[in-house]
Amino acid sequence: MLTLNSHPSGRHFLQIPGPTNVPDRVLRAIDQPTIDHRGPEFGALGLAVLEGVKQVFQTQSPVVIFPSSGTGAWEAALVNTLSPGDRVLMVETGHFASLWRKLAGRLGLEVDFLEGDWRHPVDAAAIAARLAEDTAHGIKAVCVVHNETSTGVTSDIAAVRAAIDGAAHPALLMVDTISSLGSIDYRHDEWGVDVTVAGSQKGLMLPPGLAFNALSARALAAADDARLPRSYWDWREMLAANARGYFPYTPSTNLLYGLHEALAMLREEGLPQVYARHSRHAQAARLAVAAWGLELLSLDPTAHSAALTAVIMPQGHGADAFRKLVLERFDMSLGQGLGKLADRVFRIGHLGHFNDLTLCGTLAGVEMGLAAAGVPHRPGGVQAAMEFLAGERASAPA
Ligand SMILES: *Cc1c(COP(=O)(O)O)cnc(C)c1O
Repeated sequence: MLTLNSHPSGRHFLQIPGPTNVPDRVLRAIDQPTIDHRGPEFGALGLAVLEGVKQVFQTQSPVVIFPSSGTGAWEAALVNTLSPGDRVLMVETGHFASLWRKLAGRLGLEVDFLEGDWRHPVDAAAIAARLAEDTAHGIKAVCVVHNETSTGVTSDIAAVRAAIDGAAHPALLMVDTISSLGSIDYRHDEWGVDVTVAGSQKGLMLPPGLAFNALSARALAAADDARLPRSYWDWREMLAANARGYFPYTPSTNLLYGLHEALAMLREEGLPQVYARHSRHAQAARLAVAAWGLELLSLDPTAHSAALTAVIMPQGHGADAFRKLVLERFDMSLGQGLGKLADRVFRIGHLGHFNDLTLCGTLAGVEMGLAAAGVPHRPGGVQAAMEFLAGERASAPA
């Protein structure tokens, strides 16, 4: 494997907030002969994963699986439900929300963008106010990012649903869960989400290459009237083929083997335990950051992400030089600052296939890196995390 270390040994620490570490069980599941995607064996696999994946979205509705990155699922959500010139309301939680907005603009949609400072969650009251003004119901969809991966801030989706209902507004609700699905509690049906967008390479512990749209009855109805051009992303042909476990074009057969295994792992651990594990590790990571005397990017204590922690570099110190040192000295990848946060923050991914010692190793790499790079900090971050982890039962609910 290509690495900057001259003599790497042991496992690389891939502690970016996606792609995440792929469990050996999943790698072994992927390592099988590719089969005829129109043959009988494939149909059984297709039906199993299409049904099994619903559980992770906490939905009874269909979930469509595309062979694509998450960006494709963003596009699919919009082109299947909207028409040229339609207005959509989006919220600037950070870099990923800004990219989704850019994509919507390129498709010919009119975007109302609620501005944000990249340090706070979605303000449901601001959405309610904007929808209340829209008495003509020109806004066709509200699009929000559940876990903003560029900032480490998680938004309250139930509150967004309540804002839409409170305004008695018919807009569809679309939610990006690319870095929260399988890590942070998410309820497609209960929260009345119309399209949930997800990807394989974060909480689902798979390599990049699969993307998802969970649908609602209203989203499916909207697909009948939507006039944005769509072909590859069209839900209708997909759902028709999915009924018997097949796809309208060649699916990512081997990634679907992996998905089957990853779903089994999530089921065996239990989703409540998976969510509790993530929030516990996030809490330990924040204790380390506090002990170091460094600043979290996330400012709202109710919205700190359980999937990743973004840390602001002290004045005069670049995050990229620090990350480079950590990679070269300790063979660990940390997440970079994205967009306007470039070189200003580093991000610690603690999602997916992850345990107490993975966290301790990750935090030790950060603490050694801070010392080696001469970044002003207090020692004791790893110690604070260890004391917390030792004192808390691993299975304790959040
Ligand atoms: C990673 C990520 C994306 C982009 O997904 P790709 O697979 O890179 O296209 C979008 N939104 C969020 C919240 C993400 O974390």
